[in-house]
Amino acid sequence: MKKIYKPAGVILAIASMLASCSNGAIYTTSFDKDPLTGGEWMTGGDPAPGAIAEYRENDGTDSTGCIYMKSGERGYMYVSRTLEGLEQGRLYRMAAKLRTRGVQEGRGAMLTVKTDNSRQIWNASEFTYGDTEWKEVYIDFVPSSSGTAEICCNLGNFGGTYNGGTALGEAWFDDISVNEVNGQQMYFRSGQHISLAIDRDKACIPDSTMDKWLSDLDKVYECYMDLVGNCPYNGDKIMIMTTPGIEAGYWALAGNPILWNNRTGIEKLLQKTAEDGDWNFGILHEIGHTFSPGTVTGNGQWNWNDEIFANFRMSYALEVCNAAVSQRNRLYHGKEIIEYYRIFYDETIGQGLAKNNGDALHYTFLRIKEKYGWDVYRKAFRSLYALEPHEMQHLHGSYNKFLFFLSHVSAAAGEDVTQTCYTPEELKLIEESLK
Ligand SMILES: [Zn+2]
Repeated sequence: MKKIYKPAGVILAIASMLASCSNGAIYTTSFDKDPLTGGEWMTGGDPAPGAIAEYRENDGTDSTGCIYMKSGERGYMYVSRTLEGLEQGRLYRMAAKLRTRGVQEGRGAMLTVKTDNSRQIWNASEFTYGDTEWKEVYIDFVPSSSGTAEICCNLGNFGGTYNGGTALGEAWFDDISVNEVNGQQMYFRSGQHISLAIDRDKACIPDSTMDKWLSDLDKVYECYMDLVGNCPYNGDKIMIMTTPGIEAGYWALAGNPILWNNRTGIEKLLQKTAEDGDWNFGILHEIGHTFSPGTVTGNGQWNWNDEIFANFRMSYALEVCNAAVSQRNRLYHGKEIIEYYRIFYDETIGQGLAKNNGDALHYTFLRIKEKYGWDVYRKAFRSLYALEPHEMQHLHGSYNKFLFFLSHVSAAAGEDVTQTCYTPEELKLIEESLK
């Protein structure tokens, strides 16, 4: 991700130019002339051999110009333009008209936005496949702190998610616009550390209830900070945002914004929050991820599985806040959450089964907490988060990292927790399961 530095005067000039779009849009284009030869837009990605990204004079909506991309094999290609003078912390929507033919695989054809803080690398518009006539697609995004954002029309995407991103086929893009998202498009509420932007039609509980939940999420954020001793994104407010642009297999994806898949029954979950006092396990988990050492300091080599640690941070917050979350149709209050993780221990390690099971390990971490209190973890995380990459170079393999993690807990406890809280048989099973 490139950083763009411009003298302030230039940014001001561009900002006033952007603000002067006639319909209130921050940026619009219908590609009436070739944006690629003039350098206004650029091509990028990792295209397959023979792939094309070009300007087409008559193929757009209303038979005017448009961008055309074609790839005979799976690849990642895009046409993009960088906008400046946007305001950090505000939510913008890039919309475009899209037509496709024979698009297959990966994320299909879609819009994405790159920012120099790479906090929302998974963000996208809905993925379009097959043969479709012109339709509007959109992506909501938060610009980087320098106020820039690179808006991209893509055929295929980089890898990383479970179906790999890259795609093939033909895609046409036209009528690009960027606007600030308004209250008719999205429902906004804001707490101290966390803000919320959800599809209007999913905002089914009263403002006051939503605000109460946000203040609860603020408490959770502060607990996470208290547990690890630091906060992510230099303390920038974290936005939770619903999006159509996530693979169906993901409930949400962490980052800033946290992307909440808008096909996950959000109304029902919000109702559970309103009626049962359920703080929402999934959202607490995603906020938990943003406190991973990789996000907070960039150095997380000791952390072999942040799915465990996102939930472990949550267990701390649940206890401190006496909060409630539901799992498998039971609402767990505060410390009771250990009973949930015990289920997974009993199904695996507890039965002598060497099964890779993060939730069972989580249970054993809570056992340590029962004996020594949370302070050993508050100390251990502080020392772990302060490590430089070269201090973790020797760490290879999950079991090694597991022992390394516990060595920091032991240092805080003043005795070897692998001796006091694990049997030799358990350690053997864990070693085997983490191979
Ligand atoms: Zn996760």
